Amino acid sequence: MGVGTELPQLITEPAEWDATADVIVVGFGIAGACAAIGAAEAGARVLLLERTGAAGGASALAAGHFYLGGGTPVQQATGYADSVEAMTAYLEAVTPEPDAAKIRAYCAGSVSHFEWLEAHGVEFERSFYPGKAVVQPGTEGLMWTGNEKVWPYRERARPAPRGHKVNARAERGGRQVMAVLARRVRELGIAVRYETEVRQLVVDVNGRVVGVCWRDGAAAGAVVLAAGGYVMNPEMVAIYTPRLAEHFLPLGVPSDDGLGIRLGQSAGGDIANMDGAFMTASFYPPAELLYGVIVNKAGRRFVAEDSYHGRTAGAVVAQPDSTAYLIVDNRHMVWPELPMVKFVDGWDSLAEMAAALGIPSGALRKTVDDYNAAAAQGRDPEFGKHPDWLMPLTERPWGAFDLTPGRATYVGFTLGGLRTSVDGAVLRTDGSVVPGLYAAGACASNLAQDSSGYSSGTCLGEASFFGRRAGAHAAGLSGAVSNKAHSAERMKGD
Ligand SMILES: Cc1cc2nc3c(=O)[nH]c(=O)nc-3n(C[C@H](O)[C@H](O)[C@H](O)COP(=O)(O)OP(=O)(O)OC[C@H]3O[C@@H](n4cnc5c(N)ncnc54)[C@H](O)[C@@H]3O)c2cc1C
Repeated sequence: MGVGTELPQLITEPAEWDATADVIVVGFGIAGACAAIGAAEAGARVLLLERTGAAGGASALAAGHFYLGGGTPVQQATGYADSVEAMTAYLEAVTPEPDAAKIRAYCAGSVSHFEWLEAHGVEFERSFYPGKAVVQPGTEGLMWTGNEKVWPYRERARPAPRGHKVNARAERGGRQVMAVLARRVRELGIAVRYETEVRQLVVDVNGRVVGVCWRDGAAAGAVVLAAGGYVMNPEMVAIYTPRLAEHFLPLGVPSDDGLGIRLGQSAGGDIANMDGAFMTASFYPPAELLYGVIVNKAGRRFVAEDSYHGRTAGAVVAQPDSTAYLIVDNRHMVWPELPMVKFVDGWDSLAEMAAALGIPSGALRKTVDDYNAAAAQGRDPEFGKHPDWLMPLTERPWGAFDLTPGRATYVGFTLGGLRTSVDGAVLRTDGSVVPGLYAAGACASNLAQDSSGYSSGTCLGEASFFGRRAGAHAAGLSGAVSNKAHSAERMKGD
């Protein structure tokens, strides 16, 4: 089927099937692995179909952050108090259109999901990384990966770090998680077929999804789509997230072509938050650069500079011509550790800098003067930048980094997907369920909706949590018998 926007054609039930299962899971990334495990643990006979030759998907590329909280063992061991209420309040505050039921379920189930991950072999070190970074360089199990300490969120919810990273160095966590989950899939005896691209869904006369087709076909009591996002599909990106088409490098794998989303749509599934994308060109680390000010081409500040890098990126692209500069004085001039933003030059005065950057000189001067006057008192009345990062900027020469997409290197991936219930059932536009069909991970819309509200770890967190939940519920629907009631009870308690 490949890229494009065409919806696959539905097929009606054939007289004979090549295979049968209680639950078919489409895609062997983290959402598919957790759905398959969730369904198998609920007693279902599961068939897991993967288009490529190996388990992994984009999940294997991930750094390995999971956004979890509410008092996990890592938070407790490192001395960070957290609660379900604080985590819920935070996610509701940062999400443009919060789905209260999903946020509540996720936060209430976060500690037990952490325990489930560990019970299945995913390890998290009981240690904390205190630096401001995109990913901690070592194996520390916890760091700040969102806007919890950033105004206004720090006033809306008691801040706690929730970025749990798998016990692997630097950005190798995703690979490790997928190796561990693939082992668990083998141990559970789940049937897996590689090199199997599901191209169509099969429905019965009532529109209920009863199977899938590749070259062959398999019947199932329920189907879980876990086939990834659409960042590698230029046509879908042009329609839904056109910003990502301009100057953004897509972060993903070739199979992120939205086929899973289109399969769901073909059976009547609705889509949600399709314009949502995570994007970043982080100028930190080092944290020293947070002392600078970020201005647009009018010379005005527009975001607290200590924001999570995804929030800053979201604010930059919303500026006139998406133009923005990070300005530092000599005292805070250091080189970014990541090769994403470009140093423009240094100047002896702000007037020379403004002239070179095409910014109105008086406006830039006023912005820096106002900022300095308040910073000297440890305040930022305009954007509430945390006092930790406030210091007047006074020493020449002045340096500027260009944050404008196209001149800075931005990367991104999509966040929207099939509209689903809290249990992963795919929903139609009228809110009714497409019978027999579930979706999880990057082909579904769950918690993450835009770059400004994103926290690192939300994708792996929600893909594993709602994937597992979709698998267990699909098993219930499929008529699988053993352990069913027990498992449904367990998920309810999450
Ligand atoms: C570089 C990078 C770093 C990231 N770091 C993090 C992080 O640290 N924390 C975080 O939360 N998020 C992170 N993300 C995002 C996160 O990795 C993804 O959102 C998440 O892995 C999606 O999981 P998934 O299971 O839905 O999709 P995938 O892992 O992409 O799995 C989908 C699978 O479905 C298969 N498939 C597709 N179509 C079909 C079909 N028709 N039939 C059969 N199989 C099919 C694919 O081949 C693939 O194996 C990162 C992303 C990238 C690219």
